[in-house]
Amino acid sequence: MADSTPILRVSNLVRHFGAVRAVDGVSFELYPGQSVGLIGANGAGKTTIMRMLITLDTPDSGEINYRGTDAVAAPDRVRGELGWMPDGFTPAPHTTVREFIDFYARAYGLAGKKREEEVARVLEFCHITELSDRRINTLSKGQTQKIALARMLIGNPQLLVMDEPAAGLDPQARIELKQLVNDLRQQGKTLLISSHILTELAEMCDSMIFMDRGKIISQGTQAELARQKDALYVQVRTAGPAAALAATLRARDTWQDVQEQAENTVCAAFTINGDEALALELRRLSAEFLITDFHRRELNLEETFVNVLKQRHE
Ligand code: ATP
Repeated sequence: MADSTPILRVSNLVRHFGAVRAVDGVSFELYPGQSVGLIGANGAGKTTIMRMLITLDTPDSGEINYRGTDAVAAPDRVRGELGWMPDGFTPAPHTTVREFIDFYARAYGLAGKKREEEVARVLEFCHITELSDRRINTLSKGQTQKIALARMLIGNPQLLVMDEPAAGLDPQARIELKQLVNDLRQQGKTLLISSHILTELAEMCDSMIFMDRGKIISQGTQAELARQKDALYVQVRTAGPAAALAATLRARDTWQDVQEQAENTVCAAFTINGDEALALELRRLSAEFLITDFHRRELNLEETFVNVLKQRHE
């Protein structure tokens, strides 16, 4: 579990590309053993942050401190501790898996038996030892992602930064990736993972950072974020046709997921804020409709993100 000294401290990070403020004053901390999801729409600034954290890019201002070392001023002192799995990883197609991993182990500065052992270790960890002699251009997308993962693990880095690791993977490959990520968590690695597949991220991460247009708009553990809002699912009956009621509810912006269930029954959800708001909403609803069923549940990660974003833009 996380201890109390951060492994990484990011303060007031800013990065422009011309007029675009891709990262706009971002601050957060990562603690050893934490697995944190970085969530944001396209262009929110996730990749730009990640590239700066792993010293591939330099901020215009702000600080990145890795275990007490200024990573902006002294990138060479921290690089060996950082693992990077980029989005859209395309390894050299005509080399074999072993040659490719061996190349990076060499670049890491390993030689002789140590290098051999390290290559064997990462291939074994990612369950791709049997693919060692295959040319990379003969592998599936899921197998290629495992190579990206194996490459990231060379030298046993402590902080692992993964940009969209689940993108383009089929369900089985996603399950395998999730398992590998969870194995890394068990080893005590610290992970920062971005993904658009939020259900996946929910299962791989213990806390989340929500981003919008270069800024952090919310962060916390899943429980903390979910506690901020509930959804109330209500089934209502109408004397008239369900379609008419559904259209009425859809026109009100408080209602979501409006579905016609039968000729005169509609099921819908809306977000509520605490017990008093719930009681008030139920009173209002029962004055208007015949409520035949309702239940309350916490928002899932995707709904929580959409709500935080909606609130911010209102
Ligand atoms: P996605 O989910 O689509 O990968 P993202 O959250 O990773 O998006 P970034 O790739 O960090 O977002 O981009 C943030 C913003 O910075 C975007 O407006 C993007 O167009 C811009 N940007 C990123 N890199 C560059 C660059 N090298 N030159 C110019 N603009 C850039």
